[in-house]
Amino acid sequence: MTTGNTTQSAYETFLNAACDRLGYGKSTISLLSLAALEMKVEIPIIRDNGELAVFSGYRVQHQNVRGPCKGGLRYHPDVDIDEVRGLASLMTMKTALVNIPLGGGKGGICCNPRELSTRELEVLTRKFVKRIHREIGPNSDIMAPDVGTNAQVMGWIHSEYSAIYGHSPAAVTGKPLALGGSAGRDKATGYGIGIVMKAYAERYDAPLKGATVAIQGFGNVGFHAAKAFVDLGMKVVAVSDARSAVYREGGVDLSALAKQKSERGLLADVEGHETLEAGRELEVECDYLVPAALGGVITAENAPRIKASTVVEGANGPVTSDADRLLTDRGVRVVPDILANSGGVVVSYFEWVQNLQRVVWPLDRVDNELARILDNAAQQVFNHAAQKDLDLRSAAFDIAVSRVKEALDATGI
Ligand code: NAD
Repeated sequence: MTTGNTTQSAYETFLNAACDRLGYGKSTISLLSLAALEMKVEIPIIRDNGELAVFSGYRVQHQNVRGPCKGGLRYHPDVDIDEVRGLASLMTMKTALVNIPLGGGKGGICCNPRELSTRELEVLTRKFVKRIHREIGPNSDIMAPDVGTNAQVMGWIHSEYSAIYGHSPAAVTGKPLALGGSAGRDKATGYGIGIVMKAYAERYDAPLKGATVAIQGFGNVGFHAAKAFVDLGMKVVAVSDARSAVYREGGVDLSALAKQKSERGLLADVEGHETLEAGRELEVECDYLVPAALGGVITAENAPRIKASTVVEGANGPVTSDADRLLTDRGVRVVPDILANSGGVVVSYFEWVQNLQRVVWPLDRVDNELARILDNAAQQVFNHAAQKDLDLRSAAFDIAVSRVKEALDATGI
């Protein structure tokens, strides 16, 4: 997949525009462009074949003025400091937009988790925690799953961190339930996209029942989003993963695809489904397009071929700033990542709260509170967009940037 301009440069474009609209000066722009702390560590491990391998790990804490830094940990071969920096900044905006008392952070290890054994992944994860443990924790920086990581990886982080500081479940979220994970965290991001789309559909008179949707990515976010869309009466016509993309006009068979993926590791060759060339799932005829894999996938090059009338950013930063302008000019509405995929960080926040208070919430409480927060954030974005005649990303950035600025001002900086 060819990816376009970086998450960091797209973030800076959106930030600059928001500060311009809000009348904030250069000092605010530079403060919100820069991260408070950037860590890079080298992690040596002995591979199963006895050879030494060294992996680069990163953790960036962008802003903690509204609360401890919060953000995922990604295991992917493209991870570098620029990507992690951009993703950390987006987290500051996301937590501010949904108005939870947390800041923004992100981390990653440059590796291909598919090529590492479970033992190698565990050693890598534990050594990463050993390198950075002084800077993370329940009151400073709380990690969560992202691309290439999962509840198991969070469980290792919890165990390693707790070995140093004593039992500390609130140091990391997205843990297995048995270690203090929250009900509903696994599905939260994809399920939350459904909640935001429901609010969007009502506001913009774009009914979901019978509407078609194409999804890029069939991991945690893409899979749970697909399930939520089916529950909302939508027809999922295309899905993809890193190796394959499939299409079926009448709607894909999600359980058959999930079975194929778990048994053979790919989506292709399921009876009755057409195989698409990689990246074509973004361009099929559909009402809604949900990129839910990696950043920078909708670029100035392919944006003119997008047929959906609404793009909902399930992934972080999937639409480059150039593509964003092209889509908006064509009248394609983009529901921005900091709103659309914020369900994950909201339920991570619930998990942190439960761990700190030593309580356990039932699933219906998690789902209800999540719906309340996301619906509220969505209405604020839609109202602001209408009042100021803005696209949805600009409206979301204005709200988020002004909240962070208000907190910074209140500290007397
Ligand atoms: P994941 O590792 O569970 O899944 C990623 C999926 O993307 C996999 O199906 C993978 O095969 C697919 N993919 C990778 N490269 C692809 C390509 N070139 N074309 C098509 N598919 C490809 O990761 P995830 O947790 O689902 O995260 C997906 C996106 O959502 C990321 O941008 C992440 O930052 C964002 N996000 C995740 C969460 C969360 O709670 N997990 C929360 C908010 C945002």
